[in-house]
Amino acid sequence: MKVLLLEHPRSITPDRCNDIANTPLSSCLISGYAAGMLEQCGHDVRIIEGYLDKLGYEEIEARITSFAPDILGVHMVYHWKQDLALFAFLARVKQKMPALTITAYGFYATISAADIMKHCAAVDAVIIGEAEAPFVSLAGAVSAGRSVYELPGIVDRPGLCKSSSRKQQPITDLDSIPFPMRTEALYRLSEVNILGSRGCYGRCTFCYINGYYGQGVPWRGRSPENIAAEISVIMQERGKKEFYFTDPNFFGPGQTGQERALRIAALLKPMNIAFGIEGRVNDIHDKTIAALVDAGLRHILIGLESGRDESLRRMNKMTTVAQNEQALRILRKHGIEPNVGFIMFEPDSSLEDIRTNFEFLKRNDLLKNLSVTANVLYHHQIVLEGTQAFHALKQEGRLESAGSSYEGSAQLKNPGAAILADFMRQVTNILFSRMDGIWSGTLIEPPGMQRRYAEINRVLVDLFEKNLSALEAGELISRERIARQVQKADTEIERSMSNSNVN
Ligand code: SF4
Repeated sequence: MKVLLLEHPRSITPDRCNDIANTPLSSCLISGYAAGMLEQCGHDVRIIEGYLDKLGYEEIEARITSFAPDILGVHMVYHWKQDLALFAFLARVKQKMPALTITAYGFYATISAADIMKHCAAVDAVIIGEAEAPFVSLAGAVSAGRSVYELPGIVDRPGLCKSSSRKQQPITDLDSIPFPMRTEALYRLSEVNILGSRGCYGRCTFCYINGYYGQGVPWRGRSPENIAAEISVIMQERGKKEFYFTDPNFFGPGQTGQERALRIAALLKPMNIAFGIEGRVNDIHDKTIAALVDAGLRHILIGLESGRDESLRRMNKMTTVAQNEQALRILRKHGIEPNVGFIMFEPDSSLEDIRTNFEFLKRNDLLKNLSVTANVLYHHQIVLEGTQAFHALKQEGRLESAGSSYEGSAQLKNPGAAILADFMRQVTNILFSRMDGIWSGTLIEPPGMQRRYAEINRVLVDLFEKNLSALEAGELISRERIARQVQKADTEIERSMSNSNVN
């Protein structure tokens, strides 16, 4: 069987230019893992990197026609709207190649299978959850001319109504599956992505990691030896020495998770590599971080989410502000300034929550770097289908539809918090679009920027403080006043940016 897996083009929506939660980072290897498994089973597999290779649909169509696959897998990624361009493209391909089985997969496809099938008649089936085994059964069924109906992990149109009964059992032994196939585009990234584990033992209300793997599916880790073996192959074949663990949660739960991390550190240390990870604050332990840093850990993303315990409880984060601060202290002690996940605005945020968050950020030196400041002062909770928050807000009748039925938005309960959230979104969007070239690495940073960043940073922090204080004092902030302030901030950012060229 010839199987072609497509990473479709993705577009940036200007007013969502810094919203990052449309697909978890771990999804970047979904196609590679499926391809590795299919290839091991004797199928001829290719991956088209429409997104990373910046391909247009014309070029993609030409490549599909030239390869003439039996199955076209489409890793569907939600990018803040119903992807009508993709749906129209698939309709065209299906019309041209009616025998082609088009199958969607990935987080968005899993959680929104019915909606995708409703809006895209060209999609024959959707893989629900982990894609490796369903793809193999699909290829077997297609090659034997059998229906895909009733295959575990796959829904087709007749099966839509009973999709829940078809879930594929998650893979328990991750060492048993082949290493993922990596494209040239993936190797061109500054770090090689690697997946050391799947799932998370957390249950945050805003997260859909568990919605994808299935509620109740535990965190599963590859053995340290299996991870080290994959890294070793990549180093030998490609000479790469920088890696990023895309696991939603690098650490497994409890003491066993810490011991596994220590074993990984022991195996990676002699390899002389650098790597990054993502994790929960309660898993940041001094001894483990010391060992990981000694083994090459250079950066980490931790989900702080809030500086207020009440908010952390609302999000079911199962962590505390004290743990957040302890994690920051440990990481900094070992020379790591972490990237942080932070939700300044949740649907139920009060002004008191926001003030407590703001003081937490100041107290913990998280408002001194422009790219961090812009993120933590602006991020609001994104509400995607498949999360507990989505269903709770829907039940409360507070969910409004956003870009598609996959995403909802909830008006912030507190009107003052809503005004501040709207204002910060507008201002930071100006900044993100101005900085896009430099922060994405496509433009060289002109000299003198650090001083300008510090100026813009001060503008952002002052604006936040001023407006929050005004709201706390009971002042009414009109739309006109917001518009004036946004305009002023725009001018100040512009002035700082243009001054950078003469310093
Ligand atoms: S810690 Fe929470 S947000 Fe992070 S992966 Fe786990 S459930 Fe998701």
